[in-house]
Amino acid sequence: MVLMEAGWRLENTYARLPDYFYQRTRPERVGAPEMAVFNRALAADLGLDADVLDSPAGAAIFAGNEIPPGSDPIAQAYAGHQFGGFTMLGDGRAILLGEQITPDGRRVDVQLKGSGRTAFSRRGDGRAALGPMLREYIISEAMHGLGIPTTRSLAVARTGESVFREERLPGAVLTRIAASHIRVGTFEYASGIGEPGAVRTLVDYTLARHDPERAGAENPALALLESVVERQASLIARWLHVGFVHGVMNTDNMALSGETIDYGPCAFLDAYDPAAVFSSIDHYGRYAYGNQPTIAQWNLARLAESLLSEIDSDSARAIERANEALSRFPDLFRQHWLRGLRAKIGLGSEEDADAALIEELLETMHQHGLDFTNTFRQLDPDSPLPHLEDWHVRWTERLRRQSGGISEVLALMQRTNPVVIPRNHRVEEALAAAVEHGDYAPLHALVAAVSDPFTPPNPIFYEAAPVGSEPYRTFCGT
Ligand code: AMP
Ligand code: MG
Repeated sequence: MVLMEAGWRLENTYARLPDYFYQRTRPERVGAPEMAVFNRALAADLGLDADVLDSPAGAAIFAGNEIPPGSDPIAQAYAGHQFGGFTMLGDGRAILLGEQITPDGRRVDVQLKGSGRTAFSRRGDGRAALGPMLREYIISEAMHGLGIPTTRSLAVARTGESVFREERLPGAVLTRIAASHIRVGTFEYASGIGEPGAVRTLVDYTLARHDPERAGAENPALALLESVVERQASLIARWLHVGFVHGVMNTDNMALSGETIDYGPCAFLDAYDPAAVFSSIDHYGRYAYGNQPTIAQWNLARLAESLLSEIDSDSARAIERANEALSRFPDLFRQHWLRGLRAKIGLGSEEDADAALIEELLETMHQHGLDFTNTFRQLDPDSPLPHLEDWHVRWTERLRRQSGGISEVLALMQRTNPVVIPRNHRVEEALAAAVEHGDYAPLHALVAAVSDPFTPPNPIFYEAAPVGSEPYRTFCGT
C-alpha cells in the first residue's frame, strides 16, 4: 500500500490471483492529456485530493500516461454470452489500476476505459471516443443520484488523439469506479479454461469481497449464487421503477456486486412501453425494457452453470440445488418490483389487489403513450390526470383505506418518483455542446440536475421530448 499527497491508497488483490485471471498491461501513452470532466465529490468520497488531481498532472494519470503510486495495472480476463452466443472476451480497452481503499474502509476498483490495446483487444483499437465516455459519465451519475447501485465515473480525460468510428472523433479515457469488475462472464471464463481450482478460487475471492458474512458458508458456491440472485432481483426491479433500459445485458455486462455496469446503448423511457428498445443493434428486442427480468434470470442461469462443479460433485444434485436458488428469482423480483411501485403510487400499506391497480395504471399509460416519469410525479389525489380518470377513482378509494393522511402519501411519492431523469434529448444536447464546441456548461448543468433528481430544477430538465421527435436510437459506445 502506498500513500501519496493525492490520497492514493491502492491495493492489487486481483493481480495476486493465479495469472490466468489477467494479463499485466500498461495503458498506452497518449499525445496530449487534458481533463474534460472531473468528479470532485466522488474524489472526496474515495479519499482522493480533488485540488491535486483536477489538474494537468491529474489528466496525465486519468489519460493513462502516468501510473498512480501503488498500482499494478492489469487487463482482466473474462468470457460472456453476447446476445446469446458464447465468446472469450476480456478487457479489450480497459485497464484495472488497482483497488482504492476509501476513508470509510471500502475497496473499489479504479479502472481506465479506452486506454489502449490489451491482449484481449481482438480486432478493436482499445480506444474510446469522447462522446460515449461523457455519456457514461452522465448516466452513471444519474443512476447514483437515483439511489440505484452503479459503477461511478471519476473522470473523463481527453487524449488529444483521434479515434475512427466511421468518422474521426476525439479520443478520451473514462475512469470508472466499481465495487468490482467481476462479471457473470468472469465465472464463465473460470469454468471454461480447464484450470483445476479456478472456479473455487474465484468464488472465494468474490465472497470475500462482496459477501464476507457468507464466506464461511457450508457451500460457498451456492451461497454466492443465492446472493447474486438476490442482488440482481433488487437491481432489475429498480431499473424498471425509473424506466431504465440497459440495452446490452450480455453476461459480461452483469456484475456480481449488483451494480449497474457498462453504459453503452442504455436510455430511459419517455412514453411507457414495455417493448421499448433503444439500441440500434438489438433487432429482436432481446434487451427491451420489459424483457430485462427474464434476461437477468437467463444470465443467472449461465452463472449457475459455471458454478455447478463447486456446488456439488454429484451433477444431478448440483443442478437441483442451483435450480432451487435460481427459482427464487421471479418471486424476489416481483416482491421488489411491487414494493417500489406501491411507493410510487403512495401506498404505505399492502393489499392483494394492489398489483392489479398498478398494472391497470401501466396499461393505461402504455395505451395512451403517457410519459413514464412525469405521470408518476404528477399523480395527484385531488385531481385526475387525462386518460386516468377511471383509475383515479379506484386509486383514491384505495388511498382512503390506509391510515395516514394525504400529506404522507404525497411525501412518499415525492421521495420515490424522480422529477429528473437524463432525458435523451438533453443528453444529446449536452454531448453535442461538449464534443463539437468544447462547451461543457450544458453537461455540468445536466449532471447537477440528475445528481439531485427528486428536487424540481429548471423545467428544461423534466420536459419530455417534443412531440413528433424521431424515435431515439443509441449505439454501442465503441
Ligand atoms: P461491451 O459491449 O462494451 O461490453 O464490450 C464487449 C467486449 O468488447 C469487451 O471485451 C470490450 O473490452 C471489447 N471492446 C469494446 N470496444 C473495444 C475497442 N474499441 N477495442 C478493443 N476492445 C473493445
Ligand atoms: Mg462490457
